[in-house]
Amino acid sequence: MAVCQAYRFALEPTPAQERALRSHAGAARFAWNWGLARCNERYEAEGRWYSAIDLHKLWNAQKKADPALAWWGENSKCAYQEAFRDLDRALKDFIKSKKGERKGRRLGFPRFKKRGKCRDSFRFGTGAMRCDGTTVTLPRLGAIRTHESTRKLARRLENGTACILSATVSRTAQRWFVSFTVEVERAIPDRRARPGSVAGIDLGVKTLLTGIDDAGNVISVEGPKPYRQALRKLRREGRAHSRKAPGSANRRKQAGRLARIHARVANIRADVIRKATSDLASRYETVVAEDLNVAGMTRNRRLARAICDQGFGEARRMLGYKTQWNGGRLIVADRFYPSSKTCSGCGAVKAKLPLHVRVYVCEACGLVLNRDVNAAANLLHLGTASGAGTGLTEAKACGAQVRPSPAGHRAMNQEPGTAHAGKTGTAARQQAAAA
Ligand SMILES: [Zn+2]
Repeated sequence: MAVCQAYRFALEPTPAQERALRSHAGAARFAWNWGLARCNERYEAEGRWYSAIDLHKLWNAQKKADPALAWWGENSKCAYQEAFRDLDRALKDFIKSKKGERKGRRLGFPRFKKRGKCRDSFRFGTGAMRCDGTTVTLPRLGAIRTHESTRKLARRLENGTACILSATVSRTAQRWFVSFTVEVERAIPDRRARPGSVAGIDLGVKTLLTGIDDAGNVISVEGPKPYRQALRKLRREGRAHSRKAPGSANRRKQAGRLARIHARVANIRADVIRKATSDLASRYETVVAEDLNVAGMTRNRRLARAICDQGFGEARRMLGYKTQWNGGRLIVADRFYPSSKTCSGCGAVKAKLPLHVRVYVCEACGLVLNRDVNAAANLLHLGTASGAGTGLTEAKACGAQVRPSPAGHRAMNQEPGTAHAGKTGTAARQQAAAA
């Protein structure tokens, strides 16, 4: 089965290569701003925007005519082309969001990008993209050394089980990364090694993941709470940052320091989530999780940090495709299924259960159980129930539900880069294509 996967490597460019990377990022930013200005002009005159193709044609005519744009040839044409595609998508997403056809937070109108205030990034959709174990080769940039080995991907490319669709280069906290979107031929087992194994899992605030399996084993993955641990450090460094004079070299240095702490925190979190989800997907055939309204919860400011911290959405997305790769499945319980408020012993449902109450005490049967374990047990029951029609939907690989949710919204995965596979250089990160 062909699956889209991302391979990301930290780059170690030479000073000349780093200049070229910055130049490409600058070109992409320029193209975005140039395209947005053209779109704004046309909108005032005709009430519509340019498509990515139109922009590219306009650009090709303009770059040769205007001597001020003579530098265009220093960068790969992809940098401009892909920026126009990004802009095209941003405009379409803005319209969709405005019409309520797009899940998640309301999107604003695309803005102009400012050097130093936006993310440095650009993408290659075509051209020579390779890797050979210690380097990656990109169009115009040549072979760039990588921090870690690219051997795994190189081997797949060599034996023809993988094909690079696009490469996105970006900078985070003074470090350059390349992320390849790769179509990989994956062998998905027909039969599960452990048929019938089920685990119910509850993604929590205090504990990242609490689960219970069909054998009664409790799985507990403590969240590293990286933000909270590093918070004092972040706060301290943040205060130091705001004390430095605006525009000074010291302030810029401090901003870099702050960014590196943030990046480290994100790395720790991502690592724990990857390991926990891989482990679950390899051990159980069926994983049952709750459908959380992540966007809605993040809006709750008090919970926001803890939830973003734990990366709920990310964990569930990973469970979706990882269970599939192991010949299993992820089942997502209905958003309104009261997994926390229901007694896993007798089925009694409490009217309310505030979040600070960490132990579930059942008045009906006297059950006393950790709140998260109780919720996980309820989800487990859903997964093992023979007549599975009780608010269950089997999740697709991308984590979108098969059944429309009660509000009438179509359940679609709207993460950036997933909905427009084929249209742009960014294919869905893990969307499974038909075998
Ligand atoms: Zn009970």
